[in-house]
Amino acid sequence: MAFVDAFNRSITYLRISLTDRCNFRCVYCMPDEDIEWIPREKILSFEELELIVSVFAEHGLKRIRLTGGEPLLRKGICDLISRFRQLGVDEIALTTNAFLLPKFAKDLKNAGLTHLNVSFDTLEREVFKKISRNKNLDRVLDGLKAATDAGFENIKLNSVIIRGINDHEILNLVTFAAKEEHILRFIEFMPIGSGTIWGKTAVPVGEIRQRLSESGMLRAEQQSLGFGPAQYWTFSNDEIKATPVGFISALSSCFCDDCNRIRITPTGGLRACLGDDREEDLAGLLRAEVGEEKKKSAIEECVHRALATKKHTHSFAFDKGPSTQKRMHAIGG
Ligand code: SAM
Ligand code: SF4
Repeated sequence: MAFVDAFNRSITYLRISLTDRCNFRCVYCMPDEDIEWIPREKILSFEELELIVSVFAEHGLKRIRLTGGEPLLRKGICDLISRFRQLGVDEIALTTNAFLLPKFAKDLKNAGLTHLNVSFDTLEREVFKKISRNKNLDRVLDGLKAATDAGFENIKLNSVIIRGINDHEILNLVTFAAKEEHILRFIEFMPIGSGTIWGKTAVPVGEIRQRLSESGMLRAEQQSLGFGPAQYWTFSNDEIKATPVGFISALSSCFCDDCNRIRITPTGGLRACLGDDREEDLAGLLRAEVGEEKKKSAIEECVHRALATKKHTHSFAFDKGPSTQKRMHAIGG
């Protein structure tokens, strides 16, 4: 039976952050310097992750997402994906900045990765440098091509629009996604962690839709196109045929009523809500001197505890400061 929280929401989606390390320094996710990295010995091992996932697999788990930091920096990730598939998890998704996809796309596909999301905020080199503090946009474009060549379909592109930085690219991003047959989703900039450029830079999705509707035809879709909180609309104009565009609006229209997820941080913090810093400590249970069955029961109890106090909704707001102390790269976005 699926794990259920106090508001009767079934938890069937597990987001696992494999590392806090990243080869980018995106302005919405982390500062450029003075970052305290998690000591390596605190990061959960593959064996520890396997045990956690085996418990969830016995409770109706439908999908895992691997994230980070940059998950492709974690050595052996393809092996981990195969191991999760062997535990009977049929849908395994990955969110990546694509920088390492030229190297890994084929192996990820062969290992059994089923869904791919790529952070993609800009088509302009200078803007790319400003947002990611990395210089190599071409490498990201090569990564997308490698993923397509490896057979990934319906690749989702996640764009965070930041006022004054990439808000002039809204239509260009939609046009690019349509031509490449990727699915673009605009994610509202969320107030997570200190040291990011949160403030008046967030652009509400309503404003993004307004700007798009000035350059073509935009209409709301009835059906949902995936497992997450995105609402889909269809956009078309003289240049592109009807194409889906997703909007993930954590602030302007909260989607918490349908929340189906729980997260594990790189150190084994079981986090019931992205916007709530309370975490149950799975690492302590996993590293206790007891047998596997005892560990599994302890994990189960831990999940029930976390879900009993899972908040009904986060408290993000445009006119407030960050809602969490922890930064996105250390939680797992
Ligand atoms: N490094 C990978 C990547 O960038 O795709 C995976 C981790 S990243 C934290 C996951 C997603 O979180 C990215 O799509 C990124 O755009 C998004 N993200 C990070 N900080 C955010 C914020 N403050 N608000 C909204 N989305 C954010
Ligand atoms: Fe790295 Fe992803 Fe955060 Fe960008 S959003 S700094 S790529 S973890």
